Amino acid sequence: MSEKISNLKISDNKISLHYDGQDISYQIKIVPHEMWVASWDFYNPTIFFDKNLQRQYRTPMAIHEAIEKYVCERYGLNEHDEGHRIAEYIEEEWFVKTFGKKKLYDYNHEYDKIQRNEWFSFLKKHKFKHEKGHVFKV
Ligand SMILES: [Zn+2]
Repeated sequence: MSEKISNLKISDNKISLHYDGQDISYQIKIVPHEMWVASWDFYNPTIFFDKNLQRQYRTPMAIHEAIEKYVCERYGLNEHDEGHRIAEYIEEEWFVKTFGKKKLYDYNHEYDKIQRNEWFSFLKKHKFKHEKGHVFKV
């Protein structure tokens, strides 16, 4: 699975690309709150994005989710381990080639910012308190 992606096409609601000898295509759905900024699940040909994700970052994020979903479903890889690492590698390679290595910091920072906000609103909604790295039920 060292082959690169090609034929990448992305619109507001769909991503398609060629990878590992396959044509892969998923719907894209923007949701109000996505804990992991972007996600996917088995049995559903859809990738989900948090509404706060800047438009310019949707493509690399969609590449990550599409590759991860594909390799996890096809090869039974773990989405938090091997599958995630393969996706990250391809995503970063595309990102650096397209935007340059310097922008990678901004991208990761943006991701962390959205995730932290989602995490804090989750805690608040479920009446938890976050203090010095610990979570308490209020
Ligand atoms: Zn991942």
